[in-house]
Amino acid sequence: MQITDKMAVSIHYTLTNDQGEVLDSSIGNEALSYLHGMGNIITGLEQALLNKVVGDKFKVRIEPEDGYGAFDESKVQVLARELFSGVDAIEPGMQFHADLGEGHSVITVINVEGDEITVDANHPLAGEALIFDVEVMAIRPASAEEIAHGHIHGEGGHHH
Ligand code: ZN
Repeated sequence: MQITDKMAVSIHYTLTNDQGEVLDSSIGNEALSYLHGMGNIITGLEQALLNKVVGDKFKVRIEPEDGYGAFDESKVQVLARELFSGVDAIEPGMQFHADLGEGHSVITVINVEGDEITVDANHPLAGEALIFDVEVMAIRPASAEEIAHGHIHGEGGHHH
């Protein structure tokens, strides 16, 4: 059985950046399970998994445009302190949920100067090349319910 659209796929993976630092890994935890062809995982990884079979091991380098996008300077914005009403002490590194006009996103405070708060709404991995070491653990056809929901259920999947 090969990985194609509407297959429920389980993989183990280790994600490193260009500097070889491990950013994330499923090793030692439950395998990651996802529904193929539905955008559950980043485009570049989904493309690399197409037609793979159980037991396949591979390494893939994914450029930012197929990962979390290029770093977008326009997502770095200076906001007025009054927008943070209810927050006593605003410090670099703090994260907030916000809507900066492009839908809901997580913003990170990167600088505080008086009443001017500089925030970054880029994904933390925006602009980074991602290197995935992957092993395909399991493949099965997704159920009609899973396909309707756009994600898989059960072990390693969403809970309802
Ligand atoms: Zn569901």
